[in-house]
Amino acid sequence: MNQSSEKKVTGLTSTHSEEEWEKRPPTIDIIRPETYKLLSKEAGNKGTSLRKLCNEILEMYLEKEEFLSKYIPKLKKLAFEDNILFVRDSKINKTAEISYNDGLIHCSICKKSLCFHTLYAMSQSDIARLEPGQRKKR
Ligand SMILES: [Zn+2]
Repeated sequence: MNQSSEKKVTGLTSTHSEEEWEKRPPTIDIIRPETYKLLSKEAGNKGTSLRKLCNEILEMYLEKEEFLSKYIPKLKKLAFEDNILFVRDSKINKTAEISYNDGLIHCSICKKSLCFHTLYAMSQSDIARLEPGQRKKR
């Protein structure tokens, strides 16, 4: 019995029933060839399979989201638009606009680069999409 079949799958929300899962687990496509190449290289560097690496990444993502909602429930990412990461702070009822300028992440509320909002923003994958500079107009 391999590791994946040992886990009991619960809470399925896709069209895959548990019965179908037993017959054939769902698969996903890696859309961009460059992403496939980079993930395959990463798997090789870690001495694991692409399948295991992708599953680890997905599981870590879900665990991170659960951790953030449990321990930092007052902060929530609203969107990434116009080169700004919007973080809602329900404790103060304001939205922080996180940007990247002069080599530092910046918070529009606290007017500094190291605060709860920027730390939270650093936990979001979208942070990698911030480009140096100001808000981009559409
Ligand atoms: Zn802040």
